[in-house]
Amino acid sequence: MSHARNTGPMQESPRCGAQTRNGETCRAPALRGKARCRMHGGAWGSGAPDGNGNAIKHGYYTGEAMSERRQIRDLLSETQKLLRELK
Ligand SMILES: [Zn+2]
Repeated sequence: MSHARNTGPMQESPRCGAQTRNGETCRAPALRGKARCRMHGGAWGSGAPDGNGNAIKHGYYTGEAMSERRQIRDLLSETQKLLRELK
């Protein structure tokens, strides 16, 4: 009798990646819609609610500021690529 199982999707699932006490990364599956596993802050109800601003000091890491920086970075790399092609 064969016990071939389809574990592909399970193996493909995003991993937690938190740093463990032995210095390696946690390989437990991340919770649905979260970046961490149930033991590393991904548990339901953990973390601040969406839009919570209690920890904002300067706004450098707000989604808005980060996407703006990403756009500038992309534009710069595109421009550099174009300049390299023109040479
Ligand atoms: Zn973990």
